[in-house]
Amino acid sequence: MKEKKLLIFSSSEAKGREEERKILTAFDGKGITGSPQKRSKNEKTFDSNTLPGNSSVDYTGCKQSPVRQVVEVDLPTKFGHFRLILYESAADTKDCQLVIVKGDLNRKDPLLVRIHSECLTGDMFGSLRCDCGDQLFYALKRIEQEGSGALLYLRQEGRGIGLRNKLLAYKLQEKGKDTVEANEALGFKADLREYWVAAQILKDLSIDRIRLMTNNPKKIEGITKYGIEVVERVPVIVHPTAMNENYLKTKKKKLGHLFPF
Ligand SMILES: [Zn+2]
Repeated sequence: MKEKKLLIFSSSEAKGREEERKILTAFDGKGITGSPQKRSKNEKTFDSNTLPGNSSVDYTGCKQSPVRQVVEVDLPTKFGHFRLILYESAADTKDCQLVIVKGDLNRKDPLLVRIHSECLTGDMFGSLRCDCGDQLFYALKRIEQEGSGALLYLRQEGRGIGLRNKLLAYKLQEKGKDTVEANEALGFKADLREYWVAAQILKDLSIDRIRLMTNNPKKIEGITKYGIEVVERVPVIVHPTAMNENYLKTKKKKLGHLFPF
């Protein structure tokens, strides 16, 4: 582990290390909320030795989880009544991760799960440039219907390139490039998303077999490689519009997404 630790710290800024130290200090004892979360496996084991985040690093030998619940609250929504859990990870001290859950997470049957990457424009503003908002709301409704499930809301905007770059990519799309070409023109791969943190959160919730709501086979690969078994792909039903038809076609053709149209 020592070599891995050095490898990770070599790519982190000293400032990040200091931020992490503050979090670890805050977590010490009763935690930030003053009341340790019941469901988390990691009430006292948030350990800076298990820093994460880079898919090229193998963490399978690590004994302690690098994610930790900070707080769990009630979340009534127009789609149903859920609980909202905030997680922090030692890898990323700037962004928290959110999990919306309902029902018994540790029942015998594989749990219905959506791993959703943040899309401010689609999720918050109802943008029709993409299908993210539709997928998010479909997943919440489906979890409500089934009575149990989890939606992980990962802070990796714009397939991992961030909001600023996503909007720059939008500008290039307005000049004729498709979503993949635009990301590449900015110097990024078509999809930079990473599912290591998602897998750690699922493990922390004692969820290791899931029915994954996704149209993206690469997401199944992305989570499976970290030890989560996907026993079924549950399609996410989205309806193409004149505004996002080309975007969806590009996702199907170039990114391998599975759509029935
Ligand atoms: Zn989107």
